[in-house]
Amino acid sequence: MPLALSDEHRDLAGSVAAWSRRAAPVETTRAHLAGLGAGERPASWPGLVQQGLHALHLPEEHGGAGAGLEELAVVAEQLATELHPGPWLPTVTTSAVLGAATAQGSLPRLLEELAEGATAALVAGPGLRARADETGGWVLDGTSAPALGVPGADLLLVRALAEDGERWFTVRADTRAGTTALVHRDDPTDLTRSVGRLELSAHRVPAADEVTGVDAARVDLVVTTLLAAEASGVARWCLDTAVDHVRTRKQFDRPIGSFQAVQHKAAMMLVRAEIICAAAWDAARAEHHDADQQRLAAAQAGASALPAVVDTAVECISLLGGIGFTWEHDAHLYWRRAVSLASAGGEQARWETALGEAALGATRDFSFVDPDAMPELRAEVAGILAEVAELAEDGRPALGWAPARGGARQARLAEAGLVAPHYPRPWGRDAGPQEQAVIAHEFARAGQAAPSTVIGEWVLPTLLVHGTAEQQQRFAEPTLRGEIFWCQLFSEPGAGSDLAGLSTRARKVEGGWVLSGQKVWNSMAHEADWGVCLARTDTEAPKHEGISYFLVDMRSAGVDVRPLRQATGMSEFNEVFLDDVFVPDECLVAAPGEGWRLAVTTLANERLSMGAHLSHGSSDRVRDLLADPAHPAPRAEVVRVLGRCVGREMSLSALNLRSVLARISQLDLGAEISVQKVFNAVAQRDNSRDLLTVLGPRGLVAVPPDGGHGDPSTDSRIDPVIDHLGLPSVLFGGGTIEIQLNVIARRVLRLPR
Ligand SMILES: Cc1cc2nc3c(=O)[nH]c(=O)nc-3n(C[C@H](O)[C@H](O)[C@H](O)COP(=O)(O)OP(=O)(O)OC[C@H]3O[C@@H](n4cnc5c(N)ncnc54)[C@H](O)[C@@H]3O)c2cc1C
Repeated sequence: MPLALSDEHRDLAGSVAAWSRRAAPVETTRAHLAGLGAGERPASWPGLVQQGLHALHLPEEHGGAGAGLEELAVVAEQLATELHPGPWLPTVTTSAVLGAATAQGSLPRLLEELAEGATAALVAGPGLRARADETGGWVLDGTSAPALGVPGADLLLVRALAEDGERWFTVRADTRAGTTALVHRDDPTDLTRSVGRLELSAHRVPAADEVTGVDAARVDLVVTTLLAAEASGVARWCLDTAVDHVRTRKQFDRPIGSFQAVQHKAAMMLVRAEIICAAAWDAARAEHHDADQQRLAAAQAGASALPAVVDTAVECISLLGGIGFTWEHDAHLYWRRAVSLASAGGEQARWETALGEAALGATRDFSFVDPDAMPELRAEVAGILAEVAELAEDGRPALGWAPARGGARQARLAEAGLVAPHYPRPWGRDAGPQEQAVIAHEFARAGQAAPSTVIGEWVLPTLLVHGTAEQQQRFAEPTLRGEIFWCQLFSEPGAGSDLAGLSTRARKVEGGWVLSGQKVWNSMAHEADWGVCLARTDTEAPKHEGISYFLVDMRSAGVDVRPLRQATGMSEFNEVFLDDVFVPDECLVAAPGEGWRLAVTTLANERLSMGAHLSHGSSDRVRDLLADPAHPAPRAEVVRVLGRCVGREMSLSALNLRSVLARISQLDLGAEISVQKVFNAVAQRDNSRDLLTVLGPRGLVAVPPDGGHGDPSTDSRIDPVIDHLGLPSVLFGGGTIEIQLNVIARRVLRLPR
């Protein structure tokens, strides 16, 4: 899904893409590469200016359209998908910085010049120095780092180091020898744009050309947002091109897109493209947030989107094979642009460190409702929570996988529809995303945790859609009150990923069914009151059609639960033997043979809840290391690891928020659940591994959790090594990464079998 979510942004994206395709087709760009590299403007520039795409963000009083970074990011993504050539990116980056500076001296006139179509670039580098001269102006010296758009720019914005810190100046430069502001042309990596350095030799700048009021956090935000937005456009082209190719290219008498190795690469490209897009989108929206938030979002775009676009481009070339490496194929032009974007952002380590430092003082805000929105709902929920706080906590509090057990507090919350507010009434409140967010906010404000029914969260949605009124009446309320606790009896020794290969049988008898077979890896079955169980009711029917969905009383005769000890040393899952277990007719959900359809609903809810947030708190543990003065790892390295861990958490939150907002706008994302689940698993694995890299010899010690009850996926106090050993719960639960990649490849990318 592209960056644009609102109707207005999607219209803008559509018109920019169509215009760019017409005005600057890649064949035309190819024919002018030498000139473009030297800084010539493409023939499309006057049209771009006429449409105002260069001045969308400039203040209206200076000739712009008064829009913001979000609109610029939407345009950047589309222009990059079309490989639009020339100085647009460096020009709007520079003018977005200038547009927010103090409008004094020559700046107002320069902004008008930019609004009329002048081009610009931003130059910096450790070698650039500024000293005050006797007239109140400045003298600049030194050579900048290579920067996009310098050759051919009408105006350069120069960041130089003065005695008292950084200062900014506007400079007009030239390529002719003898000038004090000399432009050197470099051979550009991205052949569609110029690159060069500025050499300043005692170059005098009048006081009026000093730019004041430039905010460093905003500069980083503008730069990384626009680079990441272009990266998103490039990643999208790479994905679409690779997918189109593997659908039709045949080897071994099959389309190569039918090979699983190829499918998984393509599916991971989609996941990466979504991460890049989410980072760019989040950075753009941070324009409206405070400086701490901007620092987090800018660093995240720099740390996650920019390196990822290079990987995506290389993967595209690898799926195209030899043809992708030829000059004739456009892939290398996008590859070159990807490398150029990543390089323009500076060193990855810088952004990871910046993110780690920023995360020590602030957390990125992913809330999407105004704190004062829905005052009546807020007051009502706050009132109920105050009432709940006064009640005795007579149930068992939630512990790891084990949900809270009954008690007056949960009963009151269930009665008020606050345990699962999104469920239909009377079980919930039919709450849409905004209402849910307001309710969650009130829980946080009251310092109370919303109770979880754990596996009940996957079971109840299935029952509320497919169960009879009697089944809903019998199970929904007690589950929400914490009086019934569920387990899921799906997997079998011979049926894990291929769940439909299950062999547990259900035989029809008078008044019900008799179940026989063995289930395995069943979380918390040793504590559960009821289990949802898949069993085969028709052995003649095709694999997916003979399965039925039963509700099994775990205390029934013939149910034998045997706990299994896991790699962590804890016992949370079990094997469950069903030996002629009688299940009455009223505990069959839907008709016989409809079990597979129901299982898909249950698994979708499992994936949704497992994909929505990172449950391994690796970043908290990295923070613990930073807070421990005795920990021997170098601080800089630990901060960088923190940046990486927080970055992955932010990616997941941004993906999640985008999917919520898309749902509010009635957009069908299709892939969202599987993309989130894959990224969740990959992120938790990588965070956990990164944590180990700075744990050092502390990793020799693995302290078992008290009582064997703690859950590595949710208990933040758990030992970091035990936490790492608990990774399989996120890598396998709800379907393995490979199975999710299969789903993305076949259902979303529509790759052939
Ligand atoms: C902590 C934990 C809790 C669990 N809780 C429950 C529970 O409560 N209830 C329940 O019913 N189950 C539960 N499970 C089981 C879980 O759903 C299965 O482990 C999972 O579906 C994988 O099945 P498997 O273990 O048999 O591995 P297999 O299916 O044998 O897979 C082994 C490897 O082969 C790969 N593979 C298999 N098929 C393919 C394919 N077509 N393409 C590519 N790769 C493939 C897998 O990705 C994996 O890497 C739990 C598992 C764990 C780890």
